[in-house]
Amino acid sequence: MDEILLMLPGPTTVDPRVLAAMSKAVVNHRGAKYGEILTETTELMSKVFQTPNKSYLLTGSGTAAMEAAIANTVAPGEKMLNIVGGKFGERFMKIAQTHGIDAQELAVEWGTAVTPKQIAEALDENEDIKAISVIHNETSTGVAAPIEEIGKVMKNYDALYIVDTVSSLGGDYVDVEKFGIDVCVTGSQKCLAAPPGMAAITLSDDAWKAVDSFDTNTYYLDLKAARKSGDKNPPETPYTPSVSLTYAMNEALKIVMEEGLENRIARHHKAANASVAAVKALGLELFADEAVSSATVTAVKMPEGIADADFRGTTRDKYGVELAGGQDHLKGNIFRIGHMGCISYKELVQTFAAIGMTLKGLGAIEDAGAGVASITESYL
Ligand code: PLP
Repeated sequence: MDEILLMLPGPTTVDPRVLAAMSKAVVNHRGAKYGEILTETTELMSKVFQTPNKSYLLTGSGTAAMEAAIANTVAPGEKMLNIVGGKFGERFMKIAQTHGIDAQELAVEWGTAVTPKQIAEALDENEDIKAISVIHNETSTGVAAPIEEIGKVMKNYDALYIVDTVSSLGGDYVDVEKFGIDVCVTGSQKCLAAPPGMAAITLSDDAWKAVDSFDTNTYYLDLKAARKSGDKNPPETPYTPSVSLTYAMNEALKIVMEEGLENRIARHHKAANASVAAVKALGLELFADEAVSSATVTAVKMPEGIADADFRGTTRDKYGVELAGGQDHLKGNIFRIGHMGCISYKELVQTFAAIGMTLKGLGAIEDAGAGVASITESYL
């Protein structure tokens, strides 16, 4: 079989230009050449975050940046509020607990989004909350949180605003400066379409004040060390970075800029709208509340009586399209279509052809082509 089309919510298909960039000679990570590429890459990163502040690359996956965000800004014993409506909200909660933080949970039903009002109420009840964490795009449920509106509410409180944009940056609207985000984190392998293994973080002045107010209990992810090395001339990272992945991020971010951030986000929204319409055309049901459904991943209820292994096994092995399953209690109950990175009608036509043919083959639907027909209409 030809290469499998990755329609996962990460990792996503990597552009050949990015793969080629990774094959360049590895240079001294404490030399001028690496300093140059690091500077260029972190400057591009700040442009994509839309912040005047510096960004830092961390060799590690998105979770490394999540942990760095919390462990450096909230001291053990301090109170933090985590919005939990899925797997990644839970992860922030667990990371906070791991670091001895007094982790409070604001639970929202999986498939729905938190409202700014709920956050304001929680903050009014707990004046001593040091920070809140929000997952912008809850990849496990296909829900986008209203981070701009939450940012407006957060201006009335001292608590730091920590946002995970691992599966949204470069695919949905994230404006760190305008939304008043204090700590923003992302990963390489989703909408930025670089290989997995790099994470990025940026902090506001208020967040840096919090960093300077205590000694973190993380060593590898100590952001004071990252700042100190980044301020050197030429700039460095505290420990050996993945030089090859830095090349990859550099090239991937250049591709983002060549397309234009606005255009790229519009393209992701178009793919999301087309996917939602095609899901409905096939007679399937969305998992997430449509009003808050994600720009980068569509979660779909598994049709009655269809086993996940048969469904996703067939789309992958017979039709060459890799979809994601559900996580935790959603395992077997939903499947997820990632439409991130280099996604357009071509990939969606192939994906919905595979879904339609598979479901017809399994006896779940009559019209195998309804999804493809809907995609073509959406892109006319
Ligand atoms: N946050 C979100 C919203 C994610 O989707 C993911 C990964 O799927 C992560 C964090 C964790 O990233 P990683 O798997 O790169 O550690």
